[in-house]
Amino acid sequence: MIKLGIANQKGGVGKTTLAFHLSYLFARSGKKVLMVDMDPQGNLTSCFVDELPEESNVKRIFEGETPKPFRFIENLHLVGSDITLSKYEADAKLTNFFRLKTFLDSTNYDIAIIDTPPSLGLFTSNTLIASSHVLIPADVSRFSMFGLKDLLNSIESIRKSTGSDIRIVGIVIAFSDTRVNYFKELSQEMSEKYGDLFFKTVIPRSVRVKEAVSKAKRPVFDAYPKHKSAIAYKEFFKELEARLNA
Ligand code: ADP
Ligand code: MG
Repeated sequence: MIKLGIANQKGGVGKTTLAFHLSYLFARSGKKVLMVDMDPQGNLTSCFVDELPEESNVKRIFEGETPKPFRFIENLHLVGSDITLSKYEADAKLTNFFRLKTFLDSTNYDIAIIDTPPSLGLFTSNTLIASSHVLIPADVSRFSMFGLKDLLNSIESIRKSTGSDIRIVGIVIAFSDTRVNYFKELSQEMSEKYGDLFFKTVIPRSVRVKEAVSKAKRPVFDAYPKHKSAIAYKEFFKELEARLNA
């Protein structure tokens, strides 16, 4: 079972939107998919549903219980969250860091995709400890470059302290205004620094993505199939699949 954590402690880089699109792409490729929302803001959860059944809330793992995945469609299930998850953030006892791993190890899916909050706290640590692979959405900015260094250090220290063999599957520019004049310069600098880690496909910023997801709760490739961002998500999916299978 692949456990794909989607992490970057910087907010607004497109993590949740990417996770949402990947859920459909993996499900339509025939995989049995579990989506997990580890962000108390519950943004991923609200991409799917307005009201999450209490039994499907990920906070149950911190209450010593097993959440029951919500069946969104036959092979796409969700363990969601809402703001009530946040009260567990401060309870950083050691056993709490392994809650998600224990839960995922008890499930049977082809892939679990885990969305994380914009911090390197308990919920992101749970995700990194549970993940076999981590995908890093980033935007093109100086802050992003500093942030990436901290994230890569966190992953390295989790490897060392837990003996996990988590693999960084790559960095993807998932929400970028490619027209701004510093894009070329900075993306060049970033790709020199992180080289092969970068995905070739860049997801362009477009109002269509927001429209599809927040207004219609649909992926952009369903709402606007021919749009360039729709094509980009699909292209990215192909690249991701190839890397996961490598
Ligand atoms: P994160 O989870 O990293 O905080 P989100 O996926 O929530 O980032 O994206 C931040 C905001 O940008 C959201 O309002 C989302 O709708 C929007 N967004 C994400 N990706 C795109 C895109 N490719 N084009 C336009 N808007 C996007
Ligand atoms: Mg998010």
